[in-house]
Amino acid sequence: MSHKELWIQVLRRLQPTIKKAYFLTWFQSTMVLDVKDSGEMVVGVPSLYAQGWIRDKYDVKILQAAQEFDPKVKSVAYEVASEEEKAQGLDVKLVFSEEFEKKVRKVRNLNEVNISRGSGVVSSQMLNDRYNLNNFVVGQENRLPHAAAMAVAKMPGGIYNPLYVYGKVGLGKTHLVQAIGMEIIRNFPDKVVKYLTAERFVSEVVEAIGRRHMSSFKDRYRNVDCFLVDDIQFFARKDSSQQEFFHTFNELYNHNKQVVLTSDRAPSELDDLDVRLKDRFGMGMVVELLMPEFETRVAILQRKCQEYQTIIDPDILSFIANNITTSVRELEGVLKQLIAESQLAKESPSIRSAAEIIRRMNKAQEIIGYDIEAKRIQRVANNALDIVRAVADYYRLSVEDLQGDDRHKNVMWARQVGMYLIRKELGESYEKIGHGFGGRNHTTVMHACNKMEEMLRRDFRLLKDVNAIRRGIQV
Ligand code: ADP
Ligand code: MG
Repeated sequence: MSHKELWIQVLRRLQPTIKKAYFLTWFQSTMVLDVKDSGEMVVGVPSLYAQGWIRDKYDVKILQAAQEFDPKVKSVAYEVASEEEKAQGLDVKLVFSEEFEKKVRKVRNLNEVNISRGSGVVSSQMLNDRYNLNNFVVGQENRLPHAAAMAVAKMPGGIYNPLYVYGKVGLGKTHLVQAIGMEIIRNFPDKVVKYLTAERFVSEVVEAIGRRHMSSFKDRYRNVDCFLVDDIQFFARKDSSQQEFFHTFNELYNHNKQVVLTSDRAPSELDDLDVRLKDRFGMGMVVELLMPEFETRVAILQRKCQEYQTIIDPDILSFIANNITTSVRELEGVLKQLIAESQLAKESPSIRSAAEIIRRMNKAQEIIGYDIEAKRIQRVANNALDIVRAVADYYRLSVEDLQGDDRHKNVMWARQVGMYLIRKELGESYEKIGHGFGGRNHTTVMHACNKMEEMLRRDFRLLKDVNAIRRGIQV
């Protein structure tokens, strides 16, 4: 199967599982550039932004689909395709209705203007220039890891060797270690920087064993000046890889080459790892990354908005920062989703849409500050119109929308909530309510009220909405 055929199969498999607009946005002009002997399928993407997005969102799906059609594929890597590669016609054209594509293209153009490549710096293929020391936001909690990274980048092979960075998932280890690599390349253009994940190292070892090329493996990294290995907890229980790593590590270390390691735990907690390795990992500088405090989280969100060239209401950023407390990656995920959704829906982001995304992602047990919306519209309702107004405000609609004939689902929904609340709170007759809603029939109102009654028993979100509106109108 050619690369192009493989990619067509993969996309066919993915398409039904991804919203049409997203599918078009992210997979237009993508291609398979290579399937290496190691089993790494290299996917070419049109931009850095698309690269980040596809990797974060669809990596597993892509790998699964690819394996189905080519069992040789073991992992997926993403690269921004060069002009020559683009010109080879490897990319798969996704054709949808013209109108739809136009809409999507607009979104894509908005997305792509961000993040420019560093000026004239040759970046190592494995490094992503999205990660650098300047866009790593420093707060109280990560001051030390950041300072250590700066020191290493200024003087590789100096006193902070090896530098060992650990912390829970999504707290910026990969960002920091890649940033060190980028910075070293920038400061010392002659130095050879090698970044790889421990997982990748293991698969290289496995491959070398398979081909009986172990002897040459030892020399593989000999010319490297700065060796960055991500997620070394992956070496646990992989004995021969540990051995190889041990040799590589010693070889480099003894020649004063800089080594930077990351892991999800402290060196002493690396179970199933050779004690000699653990000892060596702890010899230089060991720093822990912690989840940033609220203020830093807000600063990170602001920084990301800047990268996405998007301006978002600070209240919304605080709201997200308040609710996402365990991972910076999730913080970023909510923001990205919020931006993407609001661009697709052509609506400006709101606390409400952020709350929905957080709830959907299931990232917060209880959403803090959700009633902020309700507080904004606090007033005493004396009559039906006050309630209609409160409902309209809450759902970001106009009174005319609710009283009119708009049959969009969200409008109809809000209209029914309004009818229900007026009935409940003011005890108006169905007739009168119907009259207030553009002369609707009393049976329509009755049905709406009964439906709401019933829905409120099982739809938690509706209940929260109704309660929030109720509090807002202080009936
Ligand atoms: P880890 O490797 O620890 O799982 P990553 O380095 O992949 O985490 O970080 C997840 C995301 O969070 C990345 O997009 C990274 O840019 C972002 N991030 C983490 N910490 C910071 C920070 N202090 N400033 C800016 N972005 C950060
Ligand atoms: Mg990582």
